[in-house]
Amino acid sequence: MKIAVIGAGAAGIMAALRAAPVTQVGGTVSLFEHNQTIGRKLLVTGSGRCNLTNDALDPSLYHCADPEWMASFLDRLGVAELRDWLERLGIPTFKTDDGWYYPLSQSAQSVVEILRERLEEAGILMRVATKVEWFGLKDDQFELKLNWNEQKTVERFDKLVVAAGGMAYPDLGSRGSLFSSLERAGHTIETIIPALGPIYVELGAFKALKGLRFDAVTSIYKDGERLGSTFGNLIVTEKGFNGPGVMNLSHYVGLHPGKELQLQVNFLAPFWEGMAEELADLEKAKGSLRGLLLRALPPKAVDFLMSQAELDPGTPIKGVEGEQLLRLLRVATDNRFKITGAGDFRNSQVTVGGVAVGEVDPLTFESRLVPGLYLVGETNNVAGPCGGFNLHYAFGSGFLAGKHLTSLQNNT
Ligand SMILES: Cc1cc2nc3c(=O)[nH]c(=O)nc-3n(C[C@H](O)[C@H](O)[C@H](O)COP(=O)(O)OP(=O)(O)OC[C@H]3O[C@@H](n4cnc5c(N)ncnc54)[C@H](O)[C@@H]3O)c2cc1C
Repeated sequence: MKIAVIGAGAAGIMAALRAAPVTQVGGTVSLFEHNQTIGRKLLVTGSGRCNLTNDALDPSLYHCADPEWMASFLDRLGVAELRDWLERLGIPTFKTDDGWYYPLSQSAQSVVEILRERLEEAGILMRVATKVEWFGLKDDQFELKLNWNEQKTVERFDKLVVAAGGMAYPDLGSRGSLFSSLERAGHTIETIIPALGPIYVELGAFKALKGLRFDAVTSIYKDGERLGSTFGNLIVTEKGFNGPGVMNLSHYVGLHPGKELQLQVNFLAPFWEGMAEELADLEKAKGSLRGLLLRALPPKAVDFLMSQAELDPGTPIKGVEGEQLLRLLRVATDNRFKITGAGDFRNSQVTVGGVAVGEVDPLTFESRLVPGLYLVGETNNVAGPCGGFNLHYAFGSGFLAGKHLTSLQNNT
């Protein structure tokens, strides 16, 4: 069996490695990558630490048209299964207190180097610097038009795994160049938009906080309806907000073009429990309001919020008037910013959109329309939040495709 895998990212590398047993019975696995090296996007994941998976994996947390499809995949390949396979490849993992998994080395570079070593050992034919310009079907085989150094050739394969990614961070290699071949093969490509990127807003006076970081709860609203909400660290930028605290919401901007959207930022929510206790009995409370806010926020932010609420910095908690407290809570918990846009593909980490998941089997990742064609990773319309959800899905889908290919060989 001659297998071609297009794309040496997380999904393609894993598919090739898991399909490698076919090489022991006369088959071949060719891994095509148009970058000069494999795993370029993997290298930048998790700020170079490679956040691999997460205890909180749940179908409902993924942007995927069919949560049941996602549930079938996660039931088959959960955190334990992925960690076990990574460990077998020589990538042991550890968990942070909040349930995020990283390689023990805490180095994406180590992960890529180990994967490269495993690919070489497994006899995978690594064809880097080779762009697949298009593919098509001919006589039950897949024809690939290859471009290596402007030398163009056509090669045929029995099975094809498309692991070419989406369109996020095109500088790292994934530019959606094979979506047209997939459409010609009969697949539906659902609207592609950037996700996990910055959100731009009319900051107004909040521009004064540029450069500051906060843990906050943010929510996105359309016509008063809350579309989504997330918690995380965010940074105030020239044009709005960036960081995990808003990235999980950025795709809503692309999903509602031309609609008026608002971003609510609640700076106090993560610390509210402790503060509420202090504010429960105003007569017994000690210290100043400023002091209370300083427990959670930097002085620049506290002074800004107090001035926005028109409160004297020395205002004691004891005896603070209800109206004063309300003003402070309003500016600290219910800031509504008009959204003016979101990051584009160049600064958004993943892609929403791609091959419709209903056209792909979630247990084998074989196309339901074209036998012998496998679609894995970000090429499909699946996108998760920050926290290892996307690498879990990319590695996991590649794993299941490779496993299925191996089982076919065993059955012949
Ligand atoms: C800055 C950043 C940080 C991230 N951090 C994390 C994180 O910590 N945890 C997490 O879970 N997710 C993270 N992600 C998301 C995650 O990296 C992706 O979801 C995942 O890598 C997708 O894997 P993939 O194999 O499907 O696609 P890709 O990694 O995009 O791989 C596709 C490969 O196919 C190649 N290719 C494309 N077209 C062709 C062609 N025609 N011919 C030949 N080769 C082709 C590309 O060059 C590329 O190497 C991050 C993303 C970015 C950009």
